[in-house]
Amino acid sequence: MSTHAPVRVLRTIRGMPTSDGAGVRLTRVIGGSSLPDLDPFLLLDEFGTEKAEDYIAGFPSHPHRGFETVTYMLDGRMRHKDNHGNEGLLTPGSVQWMTAGRGLVHSEMPEQESGRMRGFQLWVNLPARDKMTAPKYQEFAPEAIPQLTPAAGVRVKVIAGEVDGTAGPIVQPATDPVYLDIGLEAGATWDYRLPEGHHAFAYVFEGDAVIGLGEDARPLASQEMAVLGGGDALHVVGGTRDARLILVAGRPLREPVARHGPFVMNTRQELMQAFVDLQEGRF
Ligand code: MN
Repeated sequence: MSTHAPVRVLRTIRGMPTSDGAGVRLTRVIGGSSLPDLDPFLLLDEFGTEKAEDYIAGFPSHPHRGFETVTYMLDGRMRHKDNHGNEGLLTPGSVQWMTAGRGLVHSEMPEQESGRMRGFQLWVNLPARDKMTAPKYQEFAPEAIPQLTPAAGVRVKVIAGEVDGTAGPIVQPATDPVYLDIGLEAGATWDYRLPEGHHAFAYVFEGDAVIGLGEDARPLASQEMAVLGGGDALHVVGGTRDARLILVAGRPLREPVARHGPFVMNTRQELMQAFVDLQEGRF
């Protein structure tokens, strides 16, 4: 892959409506049949509803091992608690980057009975050497997430990665992630250099936008995801009305993946061990 080659949209994906937890309705963009994974990303769920019955049941007690869950709240409040005594409240605009590592059992429950709940949960894989690391949280309030105006009509919140020398607060050397929340006024343009060799995607969650230049320009509608590739020079243009999208990239791990539900390991044997360890109280 040559540097500075333009980023192209390799394919587009629409999420599938599903439910998880105790019956929370959400849209699964990565992790469903249309895109099982995009190394190192294992799952992307968008949740967004005004109806309490869609989210009120929440995600009661459940385990994780071998990867990281990243929750980015846009609207609403969610409380998390784990079996190691960690607890916190996710408020609008906050992010929680949780390294499950060797394992924890937690709940993620709405801290509201009405109103809008909206956000994303992304699962990021860990390399074999880090899968059994101690659990860890990187949790940031909205004011700890830098917000820049890198071009006219463009507003970028830097959760992870770097924009014009400003780094986001998340540290994860294994996958060196980029996670940006980009707001584009209609017709505004922005050029951004992705780390070379990263796998990347963009997901539009408000309005519409265009990715790519010239013949390769590809419009994206709301709730459409683009798998990106072909180069590292991203050109994005706001569409017919104000748009908002997330841009996420990470270094692929290129390791075997053995996954079942909330466990993501390298081998089937490690997966079986995770079940045994959970049953015997070693999480
Ligand atoms: Mn969870």
